[in-house]
Amino acid sequence: MKQVLDKIKCPQCGAENDIPIDEKFLECAFCGSAIYVDKKKVVTHLVVACNFKKEDAEGNLRRWMAGNFHVKDLDKLAQISQVNFYYFPMWYFKSKDASAEKIYLQPATSTSISEIKKINIPAGSLKVFKEKDFDSKDFIVPDVMYDAAQSWLQQTGVNIDTVVESDLVHIPFYQFYYNFKGQQYTALVEASSGKVYANVWPAKSEAPFRVMFGLGIFVFFVMSIISFIIGFMIERSAVVALMTGEMIKLPLYGLAAVPLIIIAYFIAKKV
Ligand SMILES: [Zn+2]
Repeated sequence: MKQVLDKIKCPQCGAENDIPIDEKFLECAFCGSAIYVDKKKVVTHLVVACNFKKEDAEGNLRRWMAGNFHVKDLDKLAQISQVNFYYFPMWYFKSKDASAEKIYLQPATSTSISEIKKINIPAGSLKVFKEKDFDSKDFIVPDVMYDAAQSWLQQTGVNIDTVVESDLVHIPFYQFYYNFKGQQYTALVEASSGKVYANVWPAKSEAPFRVMFGLGIFVFFVMSIISFIIGFMIERSAVVALMTGEMIKLPLYGLAAVPLIIIAYFIAKKV
């Protein structure tokens, strides 16, 4: 005999449905809406449409790699070793008070990519999940429960009474694994907007810039000393000599800055 846990109210049409034990994803028998049942909470199951093919997502990743914060030629040298496609579950909360409507998202399963919390769901891209339109093996089942997500929301300072809507949303991602100089990295491409998310990547090395900074300080220090030596050589009075030194310092600084800027430019281009 199939055990029935309780009756649940469909969040879309309000009709009462039976929920069999151990079933979390179901369809409302009356309106056909996708429903997700957590022990305490019944929510609508939404999904964000996937607009990117694997090759296009990879194109976005390569363009991101070519960006300024990344090590030179990363886009050409990175070797993609694996790509996984999945719909990642998130708790979606909408709060509304007198001034504004706000959306909050919280991962509904653990992830090592914390950037995922920063994602914005493109307006108008949310749809009610329909089982026949998707391949259920691509969907990651949530293991962070509604209660946990709600207490996180409270911790971030949101008044629960202002929450007007909470749903489970699955968002499509391509997860890329790539190798660069013997190390493995991960990046996500959100497959609705094509935006890239990553928290670790091969960054420009900072060492040459530190050396450059030290060299700069040293050069300006030497320039100051030279200015005052010249000042004291051409003027007798100490006060006038100091003032002359100050005046000589400025053009010398300007002169010294030119090669420093040129060196910095080449370092920035190379690393
Ligand atoms: Zn319904």
